[in-house]
Amino acid sequence: VAQQEVRLKVPTAQRSRNMAAVRRTDTKPEVDLRKALHARGLRFRKDYRLDLPGGRVRPDIVFTRRQLAVFVDGCFWHVCALHATSPKDNAAFWRTKLERNVERDRLVDSILINAGWRVVRVWEHESPTEAAVRISRLLEAP
Ligand SMILES: [Zn+2]
Repeated sequence: VAQQEVRLKVPTAQRSRNMAAVRRTDTKPEVDLRKALHARGLRFRKDYRLDLPGGRVRPDIVFTRRQLAVFVDGCFWHVCALHATSPKDNAAFWRTKLERNVERDRLVDSILINAGWRVVRVWEHESPTEAAVRISRLLEAP
């Protein structure tokens, strides 16, 4: 029994490490953007789940009244055109995984847009201040 428990525990620990690696909340680019938005006097919900006709989505930052959803996308996980890299180990696994991430992003965008939301995607490499300016202009637009 003990042997089996050990064997079962290893993959679980591995999984939670993987989950931590892909955790979307409170990454540094997100924290920096939220600070920049706060500095401009903007108030929002973070990691707010939206139940929309097309499905459930959980944007990183949500302006509920203005129906504006913001995602902060990591350059690696979301395949930024400037900084995407392809790991050499397990290349096929990573290619599939990253392609699925991009597909999911586009699906989430369409769920939001079809429900009347606006979507802003901010890359990890973007200046948080410039992104905050971009977002505040969209919030001011009628
Ligand atoms: Zn990038």
